[in-house]
Amino acid sequence: MLPGEVNLPRKIFSSDGQVVNRLFTVLCKASDSALAQGFAEIVKDVQERWFGNRSLPIRCPDCGGSHVIGKGWRSRVLRTSRGRIELFVRQVRCKGCQRTFRPFNQALGLTTSRRFLDEFIDKAIMLGIRVPFAYSARVMKELTCGTISAEGVRQQIAKKAHSISFSEQIAGETVLVDSTKVKAGKKQRGATVNLAVTAKRGPQRNGRSSIVKKLIHLNVGSTAALKHRLRTVKAQRVVHDGGEDYSDCACYVQRCRWHLVHQLKHYLWQDGIAWKNRAAYQDQLRQILWRPKQRPHQAESTLNNFIESLENSGLKTSAWHLRAAKKEALVFHNVEGFTFTTTTPLEREMRELNSRADVGARWSEKGIENVLKVLFHLRLNQTTQTTKGHA
Ligand SMILES: [Zn+2]
Repeated sequence: MLPGEVNLPRKIFSSDGQVVNRLFTVLCKASDSALAQGFAEIVKDVQERWFGNRSLPIRCPDCGGSHVIGKGWRSRVLRTSRGRIELFVRQVRCKGCQRTFRPFNQALGLTTSRRFLDEFIDKAIMLGIRVPFAYSARVMKELTCGTISAEGVRQQIAKKAHSISFSEQIAGETVLVDSTKVKAGKKQRGATVNLAVTAKRGPQRNGRSSIVKKLIHLNVGSTAALKHRLRTVKAQRVVHDGGEDYSDCACYVQRCRWHLVHQLKHYLWQDGIAWKNRAAYQDQLRQILWRPKQRPHQAESTLNNFIESLENSGLKTSAWHLRAAKKEALVFHNVEGFTFTTTTPLEREMRELNSRADVGARWSEKGIENVLKVLFHLRLNQTTQTTKGHA
Protein backbone atom coordinates (compact mmCIF):
# COMPACT_ATOMS: atom_id res chain seq x y z
CA MET A 1 0.00 0.00 0.00
CA LEU A 2 1.29 3.43 -0.89
CA PRO A 3 1.35 6.32 1.51
CA GLY A 4 -1.91 8.15 1.26
CA GLU A 5 -4.00 5.23 0.19
CA VAL A 6 -6.71 3.97 2.46
CA ASN A 7 -7.98 0.46 2.39
CA LEU A 8 -10.83 -0.43 0.08
CA PRO A 9 -14.26 -0.78 1.68
CA ARG A 10 -13.90 -3.88 3.83
CA LYS A 11 -17.46 -5.07 3.47
CA ILE A 12 -17.07 -5.44 -0.27
CA PHE A 13 -13.58 -6.80 -0.74
CA SER A 14 -12.45 -8.65 2.33
CA SER A 15 -14.01 -11.08 4.70
CA ASP A 16 -14.95 -10.37 8.29
CA GLY A 17 -12.98 -11.80 11.12
CA GLN A 18 -9.60 -11.30 9.52
CA VAL A 19 -7.61 -9.73 12.28
CA VAL A 20 -4.83 -8.41 10.06
CA ASN A 21 -7.22 -6.35 7.95
CA ARG A 22 -8.84 -4.68 10.90
CA LEU A 23 -5.55 -4.21 12.66
CA PHE A 24 -4.17 -2.49 9.59
CA THR A 25 -7.09 -0.07 9.50
CA VAL A 26 -6.69 0.81 13.13
CA LEU A 27 -2.92 1.24 12.87
CA CYS A 28 -3.28 3.43 9.77
CA LYS A 29 -5.49 5.81 11.71
CA ALA A 30 -3.05 5.84 14.60
CA SER A 31 -0.07 6.49 12.38
CA ASP A 32 -1.90 9.23 10.49
CA SER A 33 -2.65 11.13 13.67
CA ALA A 34 0.94 10.62 14.82
CA LEU A 35 2.06 11.99 11.45
CA ALA A 36 -0.12 15.08 11.79
CA GLN A 37 1.12 15.71 15.30
CA GLY A 38 4.79 15.17 14.44
CA PHE A 39 4.48 17.33 11.36
CA ALA A 40 3.03 20.26 13.32
CA GLU A 41 5.64 19.89 16.06
CA ILE A 42 8.59 19.95 13.70
CA VAL A 43 7.23 22.90 11.72
CA LYS A 44 6.80 24.79 14.99
CA ASP A 45 10.23 23.81 16.22
CA VAL A 46 11.93 24.98 13.04
CA GLN A 47 10.30 28.37 13.37
CA GLU A 48 11.30 28.68 17.01
CA ARG A 49 14.92 28.09 16.03
CA TRP A 50 14.75 30.61 13.23
CA PHE A 51 13.11 33.11 15.53
CA GLY A 52 15.44 32.39 18.45
CA ASN A 53 18.81 32.77 16.76
CA ARG A 54 17.67 34.88 13.79
CA SER A 55 19.31 32.63 11.25
CA LEU A 56 16.76 34.12 8.89
CA PRO A 57 16.76 37.92 9.16
CA ILE A 58 13.36 39.34 10.04
CA ARG A 59 12.42 42.71 8.60
CA CYS A 60 9.10 44.44 8.87
CA PRO A 61 7.45 44.60 5.41
CA ASP A 62 6.11 48.07 6.18
CA CYS A 63 8.88 50.07 7.87
CA GLY A 64 11.86 47.75 7.37
CA GLY A 65 12.56 47.66 11.11
CA SER A 66 14.14 44.56 12.58
CA HIS A 67 12.99 44.93 16.16
CA VAL A 68 10.18 42.41 16.46
CA ILE A 69 8.53 40.45 19.25
CA GLY A 70 6.63 37.16 19.15
CA LYS A 71 2.89 37.49 18.80
CA GLY A 72 1.60 33.96 19.03
CA TRP A 73 0.77 31.41 16.32
CA ARG A 74 -1.63 31.35 13.43
CA SER A 75 -3.29 28.10 12.42
CA ARG A 76 -3.08 26.86 8.81
CA VAL A 77 -4.84 23.76 7.54
CA LEU A 78 -3.26 21.83 4.67
CA ARG A 79 -5.03 19.12 2.76
CA THR A 80 -2.86 16.07 2.18
CA SER A 81 -3.47 12.52 1.07
CA ARG A 82 -3.21 11.56 4.76
CA GLY A 83 -5.97 13.93 5.74
CA ARG A 84 -6.15 17.53 6.87
CA ILE A 85 -3.10 18.58 8.80
CA GLU A 86 -3.14 21.63 11.01
CA LEU A 87 0.13 23.55 11.11
CA PHE A 88 1.04 26.72 12.99
CA VAL A 89 2.95 29.68 11.67
CA ARG A 90 4.77 32.21 13.86
CA GLN A 91 3.32 35.69 14.12
CA VAL A 92 5.48 38.63 15.12
CA ARG A 93 4.83 42.31 15.76
CA CYS A 94 7.08 45.16 14.66
CA LYS A 95 8.05 47.40 17.57
CA GLY A 96 8.52 50.32 15.21
CA CYS A 97 5.12 50.47 13.48
CA GLN A 98 3.07 47.85 15.37
CA ARG A 99 2.38 45.81 12.27
CA THR A 100 1.72 42.10 12.84
CA PHE A 101 3.06 39.69 10.22
CA ARG A 102 4.22 36.11 9.67
CA PRO A 103 7.88 36.22 8.65
CA PHE A 104 8.44 32.54 7.82
CA ASN A 105 5.48 31.86 5.52
CA GLN A 106 7.61 32.10 2.41
CA ALA A 107 10.53 30.03 3.68
CA LEU A 108 8.18 27.31 4.93
CA GLY A 109 6.28 27.22 1.66
CA LEU A 110 3.11 28.16 3.52
CA THR A 111 1.99 31.20 1.58
CA THR A 112 -1.50 32.32 2.53
CA SER A 113 -3.06 30.98 -0.65
CA ARG A 114 -1.82 27.45 -0.10
CA ARG A 115 -4.50 24.86 0.61
CA PHE A 116 -2.89 21.58 -0.44
CA LEU A 117 0.41 19.83 -0.10
CA ASP A 118 2.16 19.16 -3.43
CA GLU A 119 2.07 15.38 -3.05
CA PHE A 120 -1.72 15.56 -2.98
CA ILE A 121 -1.89 17.89 -5.98
CA ASP A 122 0.52 15.66 -7.91
CA LYS A 123 -1.72 12.65 -7.39
CA ALA A 124 -4.78 14.62 -8.48
CA ILE A 125 -2.94 15.83 -11.60
CA MET A 126 -1.72 12.35 -12.47
CA LEU A 127 -5.34 11.22 -12.46
CA GLY A 128 -6.83 14.30 -14.10
CA ILE A 129 -4.61 14.09 -17.16
CA ARG A 130 -5.79 10.52 -17.78
CA VAL A 131 -9.43 10.34 -16.72
CA PRO A 132 -12.26 12.89 -16.41
CA PHE A 133 -11.95 15.50 -13.66
CA ALA A 134 -15.09 14.40 -11.84
CA TYR A 135 -13.90 10.81 -11.79
CA SER A 136 -10.45 11.94 -10.60
CA ALA A 137 -12.04 13.81 -7.72
CA ARG A 138 -14.01 10.70 -6.77
CA VAL A 139 -10.97 8.43 -6.89
CA MET A 140 -8.98 10.87 -4.76
CA LYS A 141 -11.73 10.79 -2.18
CA GLU A 142 -11.97 7.01 -2.20
CA LEU A 143 -8.27 6.16 -2.21
CA THR A 144 -6.79 8.94 -0.09
CA CYS A 145 -7.78 10.73 3.10
CA GLY A 146 -8.03 14.03 1.24
CA THR A 147 -10.62 15.62 -1.01
CA ILE A 148 -10.46 17.92 -4.02
CA SER A 149 -13.29 19.01 -6.30
CA ALA A 150 -13.45 18.30 -10.03
CA GLU A 151 -13.01 22.03 -10.62
CA GLY A 152 -10.03 21.95 -8.26
CA VAL A 153 -8.40 19.24 -10.38
CA ARG A 154 -9.00 21.32 -13.51
CA GLN A 155 -7.47 24.40 -11.91
CA GLN A 156 -4.40 22.54 -10.70
CA ILE A 157 -3.80 21.11 -14.17
CA ALA A 158 -4.15 24.58 -15.71
CA LYS A 159 -1.67 25.92 -13.20
CA LYS A 160 0.77 23.11 -13.93
CA ALA A 161 0.39 23.61 -17.69
CA HIS A 162 1.36 27.27 -17.35
CA SER A 163 4.54 26.34 -15.52
CA ILE A 164 5.72 23.92 -18.21
CA SER A 165 8.25 25.05 -20.76
CA PHE A 166 9.07 22.80 -23.70
CA SER A 167 12.51 21.36 -24.33
CA GLU A 168 14.85 23.70 -26.17
CA GLN A 169 17.54 21.09 -26.78
CA ILE A 170 16.95 20.24 -30.37
CA ALA A 171 20.29 20.92 -32.05
CA GLY A 172 21.02 17.95 -34.31
CA GLU A 173 17.78 16.18 -33.38
CA THR A 174 15.10 14.77 -35.64
CA VAL A 175 11.73 16.39 -34.97
CA LEU A 176 8.56 14.45 -35.72
CA VAL A 177 5.40 16.49 -36.18
CA ASP A 178 1.78 15.46 -36.42
CA SER A 179 -1.70 16.91 -36.02
CA THR A 180 -5.04 15.42 -35.10
CA LYS A 181 -8.57 16.65 -34.49
CA VAL A 182 -10.16 16.67 -31.06
CA LYS A 183 -13.69 17.53 -30.07
CA ALA A 184 -12.99 21.00 -28.75
CA GLY A 185 -13.82 24.63 -29.42
CA LYS A 186 -16.81 26.07 -31.26
CA LYS A 187 -16.34 24.53 -34.69
CA GLN A 188 -18.38 21.44 -35.51
CA ARG A 189 -15.34 19.59 -36.87
CA GLY A 190 -13.42 20.23 -33.69
CA ALA A 191 -10.01 21.75 -33.12
CA THR A 192 -6.55 20.68 -34.25
CA VAL A 193 -3.90 19.48 -31.82
CA ASN A 194 -0.39 20.07 -33.14
CA LEU A 195 2.42 18.06 -31.67
CA ALA A 196 6.18 18.15 -32.21
CA VAL A 197 8.52 15.69 -30.56
CA THR A 198 12.20 14.88 -30.94
CA ALA A 199 12.93 11.17 -31.17
CA LYS A 200 16.03 9.05 -31.05
CA ARG A 201 16.86 5.52 -30.07
CA GLY A 202 17.58 4.90 -26.41
CA PRO A 203 19.20 1.95 -24.63
CA GLN A 204 17.87 -1.61 -24.83
CA ARG A 205 15.57 -2.49 -21.98
CA ASN A 206 14.57 -6.07 -21.30
CA GLY A 207 15.37 -6.94 -24.88
CA ARG A 208 13.26 -4.14 -26.26
CA SER A 209 14.61 -1.07 -27.94
CA SER A 210 13.56 2.19 -26.38
CA ILE A 211 12.90 5.55 -27.95
CA VAL A 212 13.78 8.76 -26.19
CA LYS A 213 11.25 11.42 -27.07
CA LYS A 214 11.12 15.01 -25.93
CA LEU A 215 8.18 17.33 -26.24
CA ILE A 216 9.10 20.36 -28.33
CA HIS A 217 5.67 21.82 -28.90
CA LEU A 218 1.99 21.24 -28.29
CA ASN A 219 -0.87 23.58 -29.07
CA VAL A 220 -4.55 23.34 -29.84
CA GLY A 221 -5.67 25.58 -32.67
CA SER A 222 -3.65 26.91 -35.55
CA THR A 223 -0.79 24.95 -37.14
CA ALA A 224 0.95 28.31 -37.60
CA ALA A 225 1.94 28.18 -33.92
CA LEU A 226 3.75 24.89 -34.50
CA LYS A 227 5.51 26.20 -37.60
CA HIS A 228 6.54 29.33 -35.77
CA ARG A 229 7.94 27.20 -32.98
CA LEU A 230 9.98 25.06 -35.41
CA ARG A 231 11.50 28.18 -36.93
CA THR A 232 12.21 29.72 -33.53
CA VAL A 233 14.07 26.68 -32.21
CA LYS A 234 15.87 26.37 -35.58
CA ALA A 235 14.81 22.80 -36.26
CA GLN A 236 17.27 21.00 -38.51
CA ARG A 237 15.48 17.78 -39.43
CA VAL A 238 11.72 17.51 -39.56
CA VAL A 239 9.63 14.47 -40.48
CA HIS A 240 5.92 14.94 -41.29
CA ASP A 241 3.10 13.00 -42.91
CA GLY A 242 2.29 15.48 -45.65
CA GLY A 243 -0.82 17.09 -44.20
CA GLU A 244 0.89 20.47 -44.03
CA ASP A 245 3.71 22.26 -45.80
CA TYR A 246 6.73 22.48 -43.54
CA SER A 247 9.26 23.29 -46.24
CA ASP A 248 10.24 26.63 -44.72
CA CYS A 249 10.29 25.44 -41.11
CA ALA A 250 13.54 23.46 -41.02
CA CYS A 251 16.80 22.95 -42.91
CA TYR A 252 15.82 19.44 -44.01
CA VAL A 253 12.28 18.20 -44.33
CA GLN A 254 11.49 14.52 -44.88
CA ARG A 255 8.07 13.10 -45.72
CA CYS A 256 7.16 10.05 -43.64
CA ARG A 257 8.10 7.05 -45.77
CA TRP A 258 5.37 4.90 -44.32
CA HIS A 259 2.70 7.49 -45.04
CA LEU A 260 3.89 8.03 -48.64
CA VAL A 261 3.24 4.36 -49.40
CA HIS A 262 0.01 4.31 -47.41
CA GLN A 263 -1.34 7.47 -49.06
CA LEU A 264 -0.61 6.13 -52.54
CA LYS A 265 -3.36 3.58 -52.00
CA HIS A 266 -5.92 6.34 -51.65
CA TYR A 267 -4.79 8.07 -54.85
CA LEU A 268 -4.76 4.80 -56.76
CA TRP A 269 -8.36 4.38 -55.72
CA GLN A 270 -9.11 7.85 -57.04
CA ASP A 271 -7.43 6.85 -60.28
CA GLY A 272 -9.80 3.92 -60.51
CA ILE A 273 -7.37 1.11 -59.77
CA ALA A 274 -9.10 -1.95 -58.38
CA TRP A 275 -8.39 -2.81 -54.76
CA LYS A 276 -6.54 -6.02 -55.59
CA ASN A 277 -4.19 -4.24 -57.98
CA ARG A 278 -3.17 -1.43 -55.70
CA ALA A 279 -0.72 -3.44 -53.59
CA ALA A 280 1.64 -4.01 -56.52
CA TYR A 281 2.09 -0.26 -57.03
CA GLN A 282 2.56 0.25 -53.31
CA ASP A 283 5.20 -2.48 -53.27
CA GLN A 284 7.10 -0.75 -56.04
CA LEU A 285 7.13 2.53 -54.15
CA ARG A 286 8.09 0.78 -50.92
CA GLN A 287 11.08 -0.76 -52.69
CA ILE A 288 12.23 2.62 -53.92
CA LEU A 289 11.85 4.31 -50.56
CA TRP A 290 13.13 1.53 -48.32
CA ARG A 291 15.74 -0.42 -50.28
CA PRO A 292 18.96 0.01 -48.32
CA LYS A 293 22.36 0.92 -49.71
CA GLN A 294 21.31 2.34 -52.99
CA ARG A 295 23.05 5.45 -54.18
CA PRO A 296 21.01 8.62 -53.69
CA HIS A 297 20.83 9.54 -57.37
CA GLN A 298 19.89 5.96 -58.16
CA ALA A 299 16.89 6.10 -55.83
CA GLU A 300 15.88 9.46 -57.24
CA SER A 301 15.94 8.32 -60.83
CA THR A 302 14.03 5.15 -59.95
CA LEU A 303 11.41 7.31 -58.28
CA ASN A 304 11.24 9.58 -61.32
CA ASN A 305 10.78 6.59 -63.58
CA PHE A 306 8.05 5.26 -61.34
CA ILE A 307 6.19 8.56 -61.40
CA GLU A 308 6.54 8.70 -65.18
CA SER A 309 5.20 5.19 -65.56
CA LEU A 310 2.20 6.10 -63.41
CA GLU A 311 1.57 9.10 -65.59
CA ASN A 312 1.91 7.08 -68.80
CA SER A 313 -0.63 4.59 -67.44
CA GLY A 314 -3.08 7.44 -66.92
CA LEU A 315 -2.80 7.40 -63.12
CA LYS A 316 -2.77 11.17 -62.92
CA THR A 317 -3.70 11.65 -59.24
CA SER A 318 -1.15 9.11 -58.02
CA ALA A 319 1.55 10.69 -60.18
CA TRP A 320 0.58 14.12 -58.87
CA HIS A 321 0.80 12.89 -55.27
CA LEU A 322 4.33 11.61 -55.71
CA ARG A 323 5.48 14.52 -57.83
CA ALA A 324 4.41 16.89 -55.07
CA ALA A 325 6.15 14.79 -52.42
CA LYS A 326 9.23 13.95 -54.47
CA LYS A 327 11.44 16.70 -53.10
CA GLU A 328 10.91 15.46 -49.55
CA ALA A 329 10.81 11.73 -50.21
CA LEU A 330 14.50 10.89 -50.20
CA VAL A 331 16.07 13.69 -48.20
CA PHE A 332 17.46 11.21 -45.64
CA HIS A 333 19.67 9.72 -48.37
CA ASN A 334 21.58 12.95 -48.73
CA VAL A 335 21.41 14.23 -45.18
CA GLU A 336 22.96 12.33 -42.34
CA GLY A 337 21.53 12.20 -38.88
CA PHE A 338 17.85 11.41 -39.43
CA THR A 339 17.06 9.18 -36.44
CA PHE A 340 13.65 8.36 -37.91
CA THR A 341 12.16 8.74 -41.37
CA THR A 342 8.61 7.92 -40.40
CA THR A 343 6.26 9.48 -37.89
CA THR A 344 5.55 6.05 -36.41
CA PRO A 345 7.04 6.86 -32.97
CA LEU A 346 4.36 9.53 -32.69
CA GLU A 347 1.51 7.13 -33.22
CA ARG A 348 1.55 5.84 -29.68
CA GLU A 349 1.45 9.43 -28.45
CA MET A 350 -1.46 10.17 -30.75
CA ARG A 351 -3.36 7.20 -29.35
CA GLU A 352 -2.71 8.41 -25.82
CA LEU A 353 -3.86 11.87 -26.85
CA ASN A 354 -7.08 10.63 -28.36
CA SER A 355 -7.93 8.38 -25.46
CA ARG A 356 -7.82 11.33 -23.06
CA ALA A 357 -9.42 13.84 -25.41
CA ASP A 358 -12.28 11.60 -26.47
CA VAL A 359 -14.54 11.62 -23.43
CA GLY A 360 -17.86 12.30 -25.07
CA ALA A 361 -17.96 15.88 -23.86
CA ARG A 362 -16.78 18.90 -25.80
CA TRP A 363 -13.67 20.56 -24.45
CA SER A 364 -12.65 24.16 -24.51
CA GLU A 365 -9.51 24.57 -26.61
CA LYS A 366 -7.55 25.86 -23.64
CA GLY A 367 -8.90 23.10 -21.41
CA ILE A 368 -7.75 20.22 -23.58
CA GLU A 369 -4.47 21.99 -24.36
CA ASN A 370 -3.68 22.23 -20.64
CA VAL A 371 -4.43 18.56 -20.06
CA LEU A 372 -2.40 17.39 -23.05
CA LYS A 373 0.54 19.64 -22.20
CA VAL A 374 0.84 18.16 -18.72
CA LEU A 375 0.18 14.64 -19.98
CA PHE A 376 2.95 14.76 -22.59
CA HIS A 377 5.32 16.62 -20.34
CA LEU A 378 5.07 13.77 -17.84
CA ARG A 379 5.06 11.06 -20.51
CA LEU A 380 7.97 12.35 -22.54
CA ASN A 381 10.09 14.93 -20.80
CA GLN A 382 10.39 12.92 -17.62
CA THR A 383 10.66 9.34 -18.84
CA THR A 384 12.14 7.06 -21.49
CA GLN A 385 9.79 4.73 -23.26
CA THR A 386 10.10 1.15 -24.32
CA THR A 387 8.57 -0.07 -27.54
CA LYS A 388 8.09 -3.38 -29.24
CA GLY A 389 10.89 -2.69 -31.63
CA HIS A 390 9.00 -1.53 -34.69
CA ALA A 391 9.06 2.10 -35.86
ZN1 LIG B 1 7.32 48.00 11.08
